[in-house]
Amino acid sequence: MNVAIIGGGAAGMAAASRIKRLQPKWNVTVFEKSPYVSHAPCGIPFYVGNVVKNFKDLCTYDVEFFERERGINVNICKEVEEVGDGYLIAGGEKYEWDKLLFATGSRASKLNVENEDLDGISCVNYIEHGERVKALAKDAENIVIIGSGYIGVEMAEAFLRIDKKVTIIEIKEYPLPEYDAEIGAILKAEMEKYVNFKFNERVVAFEGKDKVEKVITNKGEYKCDMAIVAVGIEPNIELAKQLGVKIGKTGAIATNSRMETNIENVYAAGDCAESINVVTKKVDWIPLATPANKMGYVAGVNMAEGYMEYPGSLKSQITGFFNLEIGKVGLSEKEAIREEYNVVSSFITSRTSAKYMRDGTIHLKIVADKNGKVLGVQCVGKDVAKRIYGASALLYKGADVKDFFFTDFPYYPPESRVWDPLVIAARSLFRKLGMP
Ligand SMILES: Cc1cc2nc3c(=O)[nH]c(=O)nc-3n(C[C@H](O)[C@H](O)[C@H](O)COP(=O)(O)OP(=O)(O)OC[C@H]3O[C@@H](n4cnc5c(N)ncnc54)[C@H](O)[C@@H]3O)c2cc1C
Repeated sequence: MNVAIIGGGAAGMAAASRIKRLQPKWNVTVFEKSPYVSHAPCGIPFYVGNVVKNFKDLCTYDVEFFERERGINVNICKEVEEVGDGYLIAGGEKYEWDKLLFATGSRASKLNVENEDLDGISCVNYIEHGERVKALAKDAENIVIIGSGYIGVEMAEAFLRIDKKVTIIEIKEYPLPEYDAEIGAILKAEMEKYVNFKFNERVVAFEGKDKVEKVITNKGEYKCDMAIVAVGIEPNIELAKQLGVKIGKTGAIATNSRMETNIENVYAAGDCAESINVVTKKVDWIPLATPANKMGYVAGVNMAEGYMEYPGSLKSQITGFFNLEIGKVGLSEKEAIREEYNVVSSFITSRTSAKYMRDGTIHLKIVADKNGKVLGVQCVGKDVAKRIYGASALLYKGADVKDFFFTDFPYYPPESRVWDPLVIAARSLFRKLGMP
């Protein structure tokens, strides 16, 4: 059996490893266009900001490990250019497959404005961008970041860590626009202490002779030696389309719960594939690392003739700006309203440990439907990860506000409170839901 996997990132390598574990005699070949596999683009901001010193540390395992320990054939620097029925062409050579996985990931969206291809302008998307961006930043004094989603926020911190002047241009009114305004406002106030933040502005062009010198917006112009475009991502689906694979309404590859596409023996996993949003139960596109790994695992099991279904994900996420942590699981209030839920919500501020111990404040917003089913939790401040982990586990099981209230979160004065912020937030919804 010849299995071909296009893409050696999280999804591709998880699938390859699973297939070899379950079917050791099968021939499993990975095609990866970059020189790296099992890489961690999530670590790029920390490499650029010198928190991680060695670029190679961003790859969990190297090619030799996968070949020697797991028996996977790994072809790096080999871009797949064409895919047809039972074959593919990579680096000009033809390979045959009986089963195929698309694990091609996603790419950064472009702004589509004048001079976007000038030197000194980059996105941060593939692992190779880590080295490229760090090299560009070396000689730059003023850096403009366009977009303040989590990549924009994390890159701002990275550049500040290496003493650059950072301007961010954001078309919306606060950073992390997927979050609700109460959370965004706190992050905005903190970031504005260090970053020249321009909200409600749209980039219309870049200017420069040999390299970028200015970013032009609908409201002004900003001098820059380097610019990062971080305005979103889109799935890599072109090869799949070539083969006639169905693309879903989100724009990513349509899959069923076994990660099968509409074509027999052809699977898709990771950022290039659709899955289910566990809260809405609807098809969604959730391009994040933990779903990519698990989708890859499930695709691998099914490709190896096992049976496993991927239940979907919650879009759980954590990010940060220096000491401020930010996290979200499930839906924000505005997302819930967009999904036509009848919502109640509460925004609380609480300590995260006993009063006589260390400092620590968290701001937490909980959103539920009118029956009390919790739809999402967002928070900003200290000890955010703990609350997002707890809320994720509960949301995965479809918990309501009573479940949040009665969950026995442990108490230890330096680490938590008797009334955990998640419990306080849930209780604060009781009255709105007509509960005692
Ligand atoms: C800066 C940054 C920070 C992030 N931080 C987080 C985080 O904190 N938490 C989180 O959950 N997620 C984070 N993510 C997202 C996470 O990295 C992705 O969701 C994850 O990498 C997706 O895995 P994947 O295997 O689907 O795709 P990828 O990891 O992108 O792998 C796809 C691979 O396919 C290869 N490829 C594409 N086309 C071809 C072709 N034609 N031939 C051969 N190879 C091809 C690419 O080179 C790439 O290596 C971050 C992303 C970035 C860019």
